[in-house]
Amino acid sequence: MKLVSKNFDVPDSHKLAVCEQNGGYTRIRKALEMEPQTIIDEVIAANLRGLGGAGFPAGRKWSFLPKDNPKPRYLVVNADEGEPGTCKDKYIMTNDPHLLLEGIMIASWAINSHTCFIYIRGEYVKQAKILEAAIAEAKAAGYLGDKMFGKDFPLEVVVHRGAGAYICGEETSLLNSLEGKRGWPRLKPPFPAVEGYLACPTIVNNVETISYVPWVIELGGEKFASLGSERNGGMRLYSVSGCVKKPGVYELPLGTNLKDIIFEHAGGLFEGRRLKAVIPGGSSSPVLTPDEIDLPMDFDSLAAAGSMLGSAGIIVLDDTINLVEALAVLARFYAHESCGQCTPCREGTGWMRKILDRIVAEGGRSVDPANLERIAKNIIGNSICPLGEAASLPVIGFAAKFPEEFAEYVARGETAKPSTTAVAAVI
Ligand code: SF4
Repeated sequence: MKLVSKNFDVPDSHKLAVCEQNGGYTRIRKALEMEPQTIIDEVIAANLRGLGGAGFPAGRKWSFLPKDNPKPRYLVVNADEGEPGTCKDKYIMTNDPHLLLEGIMIASWAINSHTCFIYIRGEYVKQAKILEAAIAEAKAAGYLGDKMFGKDFPLEVVVHRGAGAYICGEETSLLNSLEGKRGWPRLKPPFPAVEGYLACPTIVNNVETISYVPWVIELGGEKFASLGSERNGGMRLYSVSGCVKKPGVYELPLGTNLKDIIFEHAGGLFEGRRLKAVIPGGSSSPVLTPDEIDLPMDFDSLAAAGSMLGSAGIIVLDDTINLVEALAVLARFYAHESCGQCTPCREGTGWMRKILDRIVAEGGRSVDPANLERIAKNIIGNSICPLGEAASLPVIGFAAKFPEEFAEYVARGETAKPSTTAVAAVI
């Protein structure tokens, strides 16, 4: 069964006429006959979770909007997809931009918002152009603008391109960037639903989350919920990359077994290879060993297993991959993307990168694994936004679950001559 990806393979599926031939814009017509609160209740019943990574129930988020605040309300679609291993939103925006627009229309009607921003990562130039063309088509058809489908409900949708910072995928950082400020995360509370864009009530939802809203209306909340697992409603897009025969984006029910996704849907490993590790939910989710992947891919099951479903970007690593080198690549990424606002994250990510780079270049020292773990643990709980944790959890996970990979480097480093570089001397 396919929902969001149903039209991905239809030629010219990004065009309005083709979209309408395949069921597009029927759900918004139905939604406009419904009371806004009824739509919110359906989304709550659907157990539609935030599919950007946090997993917060979308309908509950919508219901947090203050009822007595006279300020305008905003809907912001988070299209700043930058989590390594994740490319699902890109597929939606490339192949079915009108599905996203239909979801925006339904959500805007439900929360009484007349302006929506789609904040798209700067690198997605093609997708920004596709979205702008789709918005122009919808406006020309009278679906957007002063009246939505002839109803006295104006709605403007604006595409806003980011400048390439990973941290702007965090919702408050995104809002600062949208306001023209430096993309620094804000302390929460207040949460955006209460005080978001320009201090007005704002709902920030991911592209995939909003794209499932038309399907909630079409199927009804209860039926949508039944497609997934308990408390994890419906389907989702899993991006599978790394050492598999058929990397790609697969739409499957929430709760599909991780082992089945890798070995059935993504074709399994190449001949003669052995599975070494799996990162299940984008690079910031703690790594799993081969013994740990026989589990349902939903938010609760992954949390119970000590990892995260996150963006459902599954990265498969086989025995040709050097895990210390892979971790060093991740550490470089997070050190580069830390916004520098809080000291533990700014300094800690820098030190983890330096230590891992030195281990890879010159060999390790017996104190390295413990030092890495100590630095990582000092970041967790001491930073403003989740990036600090995102940078720390892979380090803790790799060091704890694959000590033999570090031991090889330590053995090599301890027998080599002492380093004379400044970095090594300080460490
Ligand atoms: Fe910036 Fe890191 Fe602090 Fe987040 S945790 S606000 S990325 S310094």
